[in-house]
Amino acid sequence: MLCEIDYQAPGDLLKDRIILVTGAGDGIGRTAAKTFAAHGATVILVGRTIKKLEEVYDEIEEAGGAQPAIIPMNFETATYKDYGEMAELLEKEFGRLDGILHNAGILGSITPVEAYNPQVWEQVMQVNFNSALLMTQAMLSLLQNSKDASLLFTSSSVGRKGRAFWGAYSISKFATEGLVEILADEQENLSNVRVNSINPGATRTAMRQLAYPGENPAHLRTPADIMPTYLYLMGPDSKHVNGQKYNAQPPKEEAAQESDAL
Ligand code: NDP
Repeated sequence: MLCEIDYQAPGDLLKDRIILVTGAGDGIGRTAAKTFAAHGATVILVGRTIKKLEEVYDEIEEAGGAQPAIIPMNFETATYKDYGEMAELLEKEFGRLDGILHNAGILGSITPVEAYNPQVWEQVMQVNFNSALLMTQAMLSLLQNSKDASLLFTSSSVGRKGRAFWGAYSISKFATEGLVEILADEQENLSNVRVNSINPGATRTAMRQLAYPGENPAHLRTPADIMPTYLYLMGPDSKHVNGQKYNAQPPKEEAAQESDAL
């Protein structure tokens, strides 16, 4: 599996790039948005909790980053029409997109398939997969307007190898990996859009804590620690990387932790 943990990004790596991050209010998405802004990008912060998005907005401005944009959106209820309106807004404001990090996600429940609540299953598929698909459909032409666009989907170790009890979460990540393969193949030689997946690995966030309540978070890497691979995949150094599966942490180290699922 590919990894760029030692990648050293120049300060202006993402200068003048317009990058949309979903789930930008918390966890890995919050750090990714701030990191992209710190490397010169204008970031579009998408998420469901406006207060959290406003905090990220303020932190980016205080750090001297380009003025971000906020688009509140709940992926559980958003429709294709909502994504279309969002694309129209971005077309008017920016005319193109240079990157999307599909990052928002929920865990659902850790339950055998046999007993999995179908409503929770649907909710997980909607937030983790369907919403990213619908948004991508609406945004592709904006990405194609860029000279060098990166479409990056968030996967998981259980999206690459199934594991008991991970149910809808695991299936949503397998679906994501499938979509990456299809889109990467479709865009190859047709546009400047590259499509890849990233598995963050065990990372100190609320979702990880929910999945492993007994784990000491101090033993985990922070979202900031895993940013080199995110920067590599969002910036021009990965221009010719398409249809690849990346890990943001070295797999060995991840496997040595209490568990590498999630
Ligand atoms: P967090 O729970 O910390 O953050 C998830 C983000 O997604 C939050 O900003 C949340 O918004 C947003 N979100 C959740 N539901 C919705 C919704 N219905 N509409 C809009 N936004 C929503 O998770 P992580 O940062 O840990 O995870 C980020 C990604 O990384 C996920 O795709 C996850 O599957 C993946 N991942 C994480 C690992 C880890 O160890 N942390 C390991 C492997 C993969 P709000 O704050 O408003 O709830």
